Amino acid sequence: MAVIGVLAFQGDFARHAEAVSRVGAEALLVRRPEELDAIDGLIIPGGESTTIGMLMDRFGLMEAVHARLAEGMALFGTCAGAILMARDIENSTQPRLGVLPMTVRRNAYGRQIESFEASIRVDGVASEPFDVTAVFIRAPLITAAAPEVTVLAAFESSPVVVQHGRLLAATFHPELTENFAIHRHFVAMAVT
Ligand code: GLN
Repeated sequence: MAVIGVLAFQGDFARHAEAVSRVGAEALLVRRPEELDAIDGLIIPGGESTTIGMLMDRFGLMEAVHARLAEGMALFGTCAGAILMARDIENSTQPRLGVLPMTVRRNAYGRQIESFEASIRVDGVASEPFDVTAVFIRAPLITAAAPEVTVLAAFESSPVVVQHGRLLAATFHPELTENFAIHRHFVAMAVT
């Protein structure tokens, strides 16, 4: 059975762990570098990317995640997690993993619409494209992505789910709805 770690510093890690269990994998909450040894994939949940990044730095997880990625571990970042995966964050020098060749703009949908839902079509994840309700909470915008990054879903012409090899990122919160197809896709990525 695939073992998927969920970084449990902040955010809705419990819902991600539940989603992982619902798609038939084992979920492990991760707070320390050595806990990465046992997992096939890691999820970084939404929350506040500056806080999560600072804590990852402090607890030695930036280096440890990089080392495990080099060994083939898969990584899935949602919202703040996607920000932490981005190589470039507009107007920010905050700590990040910086592994995905893309640029993000934090809180891009403005203060007035801090949270909203939209139906998006996801392609390349299941046998057929499907629609899912995406919950955006102070979400980032992916303003640029390298050509080798595959766009699996877009909203208003901007990518909202992207994949590059064993790296997966979503700008919304896929753990908040009952459709766990994106989690299922990530588990499959982690064991192939
Ligand atoms: N705005 C947050 C940040 O910049 C992300 C919000 C979220 O993860 N829901 O980190």
